[in-house]
Amino acid sequence: MEVKGKENLIASDSKKIWKKCLSLIKENVPALTYNTWFLPIKPISYTEDNLEIEVPNSFFIEWIEEHYNTIINNAIRQMLGSKGKLHYIVRDEDVANLEMTKIIEDVVPTLVLEEVTPTIQAREPEFESYLIPRYKFENFIKGEGNQLARAAAIAIGENTGETSFNPFFIYGGVGLGKTHLIQAIGNRIKEKDSTKKIVYLSSEQFTIEFIDAIQNGKANEFSSFYKKMDALIIDDIQFLIGKEKTQDYFFHIFNTLHQAGKQIILSSDKPPKDLKGLSERLVSRFQWGLTADIQAPDFETRIAILKNKATSYGITIPNDIIEYMAFNITTNIRELEGSLIKILASASLNSQEINMELARKAVGEIATGRQMNISIDYITQIVCNYFEVDENKVREKNRKQEVVLARQVAMFLSKKLTKSSLKTIGLHFGGRDHSTVIHACNGIEQRLSDDSSTKQIVETLRNKIQMGVS
Ligand code: ADP
Ligand code: MG
Repeated sequence: MEVKGKENLIASDSKKIWKKCLSLIKENVPALTYNTWFLPIKPISYTEDNLEIEVPNSFFIEWIEEHYNTIINNAIRQMLGSKGKLHYIVRDEDVANLEMTKIIEDVVPTLVLEEVTPTIQAREPEFESYLIPRYKFENFIKGEGNQLARAAAIAIGENTGETSFNPFFIYGGVGLGKTHLIQAIGNRIKEKDSTKKIVYLSSEQFTIEFIDAIQNGKANEFSSFYKKMDALIIDDIQFLIGKEKTQDYFFHIFNTLHQAGKQIILSSDKPPKDLKGLSERLVSRFQWGLTADIQAPDFETRIAILKNKATSYGITIPNDIIEYMAFNITTNIRELEGSLIKILASASLNSQEINMELARKAVGEIATGRQMNISIDYITQIVCNYFEVDENKVREKNRKQEVVLARQVAMFLSKKLTKSSLKTIGLHFGGRDHSTVIHACNGIEQRLSDDSSTKQIVETLRNKIQMGVS
């Protein structure tokens, strides 16, 4: 009988495993996604719970990590058990084949993505810190909007436990770098002293673990685990609002750590005093140390971020394109990065050069995506505010003239400004039928052409809604 060489065996194992992973993934993503992002992946080897796969270029990794991490990790775990790990390798030769040679000039180094397991069980004695290596101070661009937050974060990373910034509370809007910064603190502490016990988690995760611990009679173990940390990093603390029992336990953990001079790092979408629904004693403790906000980046910072990101992919993008993107995407760094990835993705998939047309398309898609984010509820809120009608009334069976008008205008604008179906819109207005929505839209349409004051009102409202969102 033929004896297979070790290499062959490994290669064929990896193929088998990957094939099964693919079939699991295929069930969970649309066909286009599957074909675009998963089919081009090649299995390379399988050794000691490690499956090595090859991707065409480095932004594949980022894209997959950002969008399909759970799906791919679940598949790996199903196939390889909880110890299963996935290693990505970038396929250098094929990058050249994609005729992006001019764009992607360099060999992109091998990147390793650590597996992230979202439960507490495996934490002790060798627990998971949940620190993501790519969040570093080195790739966090300094700008006017983040100066204080960044400087304080670095100080804490360098002299943990010795600053008066305890707790360190950082707040700001979506996609402005809160998670990046607080993770970077953790990474810096680890870099300086790998024995330091650090854990990062979102307050939602904290709550889930807490409930889990309570249900299993392990609330004390839960608390004592966190009380042992040298640094506790909790992201998006606003999700503790309304969760009183979790807040209670968190309060005691906070106190123990603080008294012992251990560092507490928190992020939120608003400053402590605006966290309505969080217990007073927590809010006041959050203000003991340093509170710093992060503002949206200015134009120069946006350009620097884009350039830095492109360089990290080994790609050079013409200045006019970078400027175009930075000019048009202003309020969210995640969107800025998203547009860059979109451009890179379509350039690579269509073997096309990066040009203005691609940039326009990518930026346009982000803008449309944002429009989709105008929610029906938000529209309803603005409209009802304008007509001074109680929001609940438009959802009820109220036939008062001003309520009917507000309802119809809100339906009409929902149709125009969101991508929601008539059915969905109807559901938002007290479960009304789609024909009611059509009727409302036609009614308003009619009034727009007959009556200039209605036209003016609708235009004002449309502006209000769009301005509030973009
Ligand atoms: P938030 O937690 O505030 O919603 P994130 O920390 O997730 O935002 O940031 C969104 C994305 O933007 C991340 O990929 C992050 O690396 C990037 N980012 C944010 N701020 C900066 C910055 N100043 N320099 C470089 N990248 C940044
Ligand atoms: Mg975040």
